Amino acid sequence: MKITEIETFVVDAGWRPWQFVAVRTDDGITGYGECSDGRNPYGIVGTVDDFAPLVVGRDPRAVEAIYWDLYRVGRQSPGGIAAKAIAGIELALWDAKGKALGVPVHELFGGPIRERQRLYWSHCGSSRARNYELIGTPPIDSYEAFTALGREVTERGFTALKTNLVIPGTPARGFGFGFGGGPPDQDVPVEILDNVERQLAAFAAGVGPGVEIALDLNFNYKPEAAAKICRIAEQFTMLWVEIDMYEPEALRQIKDGTTVPITSGENLYGIRDYRRYFEARSMDNVMIDVPWNGFARSRDVALLAESYELNVAPHNYYSHLSTHIALHLCATVPNVRIMEIDIDDVPWKDELTGGGLDFVDGTLAVPSGPGWGIDLDEDVARAHVWERGRGPGYTAAPIGTR
Ligand SMILES: [Mg+2]
Repeated sequence: MKITEIETFVVDAGWRPWQFVAVRTDDGITGYGECSDGRNPYGIVGTVDDFAPLVVGRDPRAVEAIYWDLYRVGRQSPGGIAAKAIAGIELALWDAKGKALGVPVHELFGGPIRERQRLYWSHCGSSRARNYELIGTPPIDSYEAFTALGREVTERGFTALKTNLVIPGTPARGFGFGFGGGPPDQDVPVEILDNVERQLAAFAAGVGPGVEIALDLNFNYKPEAAAKICRIAEQFTMLWVEIDMYEPEALRQIKDGTTVPITSGENLYGIRDYRRYFEARSMDNVMIDVPWNGFARSRDVALLAESYELNVAPHNYYSHLSTHIALHLCATVPNVRIMEIDIDDVPWKDELTGGGLDFVDGTLAVPSGPGWGIDLDEDVARAHVWERGRGPGYTAAPIGTR
């Protein structure tokens, strides 16, 4: 069994691009991987193309041999675009191997360790704030819109949601998700602090009892600002406040100053990055991006987290292929807090991978088909190309911009 070709796809997912890798073999099997990133889509698939001569002609079942060869070649560009490209290839190789053996990928790792996985509705309100027309939902034009959405989350069976800071209005304002980057000095103005309380209170008024709310601050705040936001969040039933920060001790400082659980890690790569945070006890829950780390390395991180008595939460705001890949990870490790999924999305999301997902009480079943148990529909991918040079798609000035 030999790899004959690697093809990539950059798909228009509305306000961000999704990137896919197809590894084709001489016996007719195609393995699919996803390595979506909103900022440099053609940089990532271009890097996949750069790696292709090191992969084509080899047996795809030797996944680790190929992974480590690519890792060694890319060692001088750690993390970032190179890591994402390697991850996209590695994920496609696991899919091809599972299909060749006729088993789900999780079975290659001794799974499944669980049958179903609890999910949280991510970018709840934040996707609608800027892209409600494309999604086909009401706008976020008032705090009551958050309450109505909280009610919808509960009625649709979910037991947790995650939102981002959004100031409702016409138009709504926020960071990312079609709005643009974060505040230049990572300070938090009083207007935002007032909004934190009003937004979380509005969601809390809509969700049912016991539903947990998470707030994702991304990289937008320095420790002083993040600490102020966490203290406001303490009055609500918080799943966590999520903070990305490249300084473990600074994150630990925030965590020590609040009773709200702190989650972090979605932009870290491999055990080398995560270990510093685990040793500093910087986070309560560990976010892992599987399309950026690859499957085996994500599992390494999860098991290292287990040794530090930490649970993980797959970072997954991508296509259903990524959702399946993350479910496979959950099926092979014993320490999962909860898993992310975007419910509000482009109308062609289901079509891109052959149909919708079967949610039951805010959970999904661990896939049982060969490989990831789901395939990219390449015709649909080709019908929704993210045009080269389009950029990250931000069109509005974010709050706090000079
Ligand atoms: Mg996040």
